[in-house]
Amino acid sequence: MTRYTRAICIVLGHRYTIVKKYTPTIRKLKCKRCGRYFGMNDDVQCIVPWDAELEEAHRYIENITILMEMEKIRETEQQLDIPLKLRMDVLECEKHS
Ligand SMILES: [Zn+2]
Repeated sequence: MTRYTRAICIVLGHRYTIVKKYTPTIRKLKCKRCGRYFGMNDDVQCIVPWDAELEEAHRYIENITILMEMEKIRETEQQLDIPLKLRMDVLECEKHS
């Protein structure tokens, strides 16, 4: 990033491209011209420079999202296990009758 490209961006605005989607409304952007990174949040409709604090916050969001996905998978597996266990109990009952 040179002072020249940065000055152009200040005057004309950044040329954003999406680098990463954290949630459907939270994204990390990069300016194609000056190479700076930004955070975009649709819920509050803002774009802010990407700094260490934002990096940490988004890492946290990403971890929460992964944990929520894991929890969903675990719940789905548990729901699948219940009918299987019930079926096995029925089979056990049939054996004894
Ligand atoms: Zn820029």
